[in-house]
Amino acid sequence: MRIADIIQVLEKFAPPSLQEDFDNAGLLIGEATADCTGVLVTLDATEAVIAEAIEKKCNLVVAYHPIIFKGLKRITGKTYVEKTVLKAICSGIAIYAIHTNLDNVQGGMNTKIASVIGLQQVVPLIPKAALLKKLFVFVPQTHKDQVREAIFGAGGGHIGKYSDCSFNTEGTGTYKAGEGAQPFLGQIGQLHQESEVRIEIVFPSWLEGSILKAMMDAHPYEEVAYDLVTLDNVIGNVGSGWVGNLPEAVTEEAFLKHLKNVFHLKVIRHSPLLGKLVQKVALCGGAGSFLLGAARSAGADWLVTADCKYHEFFGAEDRIVLADIGHYESEQFTTDLLIDILREKFGTFALLRSQVRTNPVHYFI
Ligand SMILES: [Zn+2]
Repeated sequence: MRIADIIQVLEKFAPPSLQEDFDNAGLLIGEATADCTGVLVTLDATEAVIAEAIEKKCNLVVAYHPIIFKGLKRITGKTYVEKTVLKAICSGIAIYAIHTNLDNVQGGMNTKIASVIGLQQVVPLIPKAALLKKLFVFVPQTHKDQVREAIFGAGGGHIGKYSDCSFNTEGTGTYKAGEGAQPFLGQIGQLHQESEVRIEIVFPSWLEGSILKAMMDAHPYEEVAYDLVTLDNVIGNVGSGWVGNLPEAVTEEAFLKHLKNVFHLKVIRHSPLLGKLVQKVALCGGAGSFLLGAARSAGADWLVTADCKYHEFFGAEDRIVLADIGHYESEQFTTDLLIDILREKFGTFALLRSQVRTNPVHYFI
């Protein structure tokens, strides 16, 4: 088992290209080609977590938050980031971060929070656009099925709950092979006409490499004619923040108690209660108050998130309740999620959840 094998499973679930622009998810320290002795999963890769990885003989730490977020100009151990990075490098511990890309996908961190709250009909609050592409490829009749199936096999042609979606138009292709060419059909220097099919298939942008490779491998022509277009369509299962409905409306007090219970909270900071029942709830693990406008537009009764500032509570404008449940607390189930993703693929391989409680925020009640 190589570190790359672990990364491949994580990136299939949450492609790195889906992370936000400000983020730094991915392999931060270490070599993907190295053998993996064990995986330690944590919310934060701290110095104590690296020490735990050494003790438990895990040479890969999979963390939610990227320990290297901004550029490092020196690694001399003067800050907690430098100390952690130094210890990891000196001890041969790789660190992989899976962050906002995990927030943004269906089944990821935010939909995990939604399931903990008990929300149903959960959809992205701000769905991502321009993540969908369309491939047009021109194929001789003899190979149309082979090429289409290869593209489906690489993940193309999924629309909602439908697979193997394509559109096919018959026509005539023309070409004249030049000197040195090895045409599959036709002769050098002669204009050739061939009955061809134009196959149109959509696919998510992060599959582009594997889709094009599958198409090329299955296509008989020396020069494959194809067009690649980025679509403005949104993808319904990728986005920032999520929103869903409680099975039935509850009072604000009952909802606060419910949040306190399922997230094991000591305290919840929130904007003024509105005396309304709660049913539609928007959420975002970590700092998500930037979604307040989107949550209001979506008709959410509450936005459950963390790291809210004083003036942001005013921004609720008595039209929505903004609730801050704590950054660590909102993301605490991420390690369970990551263990589940890896366990499904790697079964009995050494996958451990860190026992270090990394939350730097303490409460004096
Ligand atoms: Zn966070």
